[in-house]
Amino acid sequence: MKPAQRIKLFGDVYARDKGCCVYCGKPARRPGRGVKRAPDLATLDHVAPRSAGGPLARDNLVLACSACNNERGTMDAAAFRALKAAGRDEPISTPV
Ligand SMILES: [Zn+2]
Repeated sequence: MKPAQRIKLFGDVYARDKGCCVYCGKPARRPGRGVKRAPDLATLDHVAPRSAGGPLARDNLVLACSACNNERGTMDAAAFRALKAAGRDEPISTPV
């Protein structure tokens, strides 16, 4: 995938998930100049992992903050989402 396509994909997922991590619900910062590593940095998380053949495509990606992405590791996305949801009061936004 070309960098321009990747940026576009990132922008699409970021907009769809309203700039918030789908796991913890906190706003995630878009990476930019001088912002390379931070726990609240927005990342694209594969729902079906790449190792399981999950494609780098909008439907298989969710916005996750860096902290959640690291914390999830190889855990099933739905299981991790339920785990995080149990730890917060706000209702979970349903993915489209
Ligand atoms: Zn998060």
